[in-house]
Amino acid sequence: LFAGETEFLKGVVAMDGMPPDDRLEVCFAGRSNVGKSSLINALTGRKGLARASNTPGRTQEINFFTLAESHYLVDLPGYGYANAPLAVVEKWQRLLKQYLSGRATLRRAFVLVDTRHGIKPVDEEIMTLLDKSAVTFQVVMTKADKVKDSDQVKILDQVREKLSKHPAAYPELVMTSAEKGDGIPLLRSIIATLT
Ligand code: GDP
Repeated sequence: LFAGETEFLKGVVAMDGMPPDDRLEVCFAGRSNVGKSSLINALTGRKGLARASNTPGRTQEINFFTLAESHYLVDLPGYGYANAPLAVVEKWQRLLKQYLSGRATLRRAFVLVDTRHGIKPVDEEIMTLLDKSAVTFQVVMTKADKVKDSDQVKILDQVREKLSKHPAAYPELVMTSAEKGDGIPLLRSIIATLT
């Protein structure tokens, strides 16, 4: 699945701009700066595919990529900007809700969580929305290279404890480092085996 070409298809700002849901789809969500662009670039092996800098206003789009013409990979805008205007946040939340409840082919959402910080309130909001939308989500821990193994235990306990309260959460965490490549093959195989 990841051996072939990954192509940017389109950025979407409203439901009527979505491509037809004619293939399996996975989406990626996470707080701004969590390492989402780096992870998507590492997964697809294409540097600069997902824009590495996100600013409110510029990337309020849902970005669709095609994976080997059989899957869509969907990059949701980063959330949790300290000073994003309320109108922008509300518009985005509306589109996100519509997207999550309206894509029959969406098989899994990957919610990215920084290994240094664990789950924050804005992450919980997304997780609650995923519960309500009945979209299975799996947490991908990012930047694992920045935290010593011995220091990861406490954070991972916090993450597992919080996940246990979300019915849509898939229990297995994926530890990754886009920088070192750790966890990337595992994440690829998780996506490739979804049916
Ligand atoms: P996004 O806003 O979620 O798309 O985050 P980016 O991918 O742009 O990454 C934010 C910052 O974290 C950048 O400075 C990246 O170089 C850095 N970063 C991303 N992934 C990793 C990683 O796995 N390890 C380390 N050490 N830094 C990372």
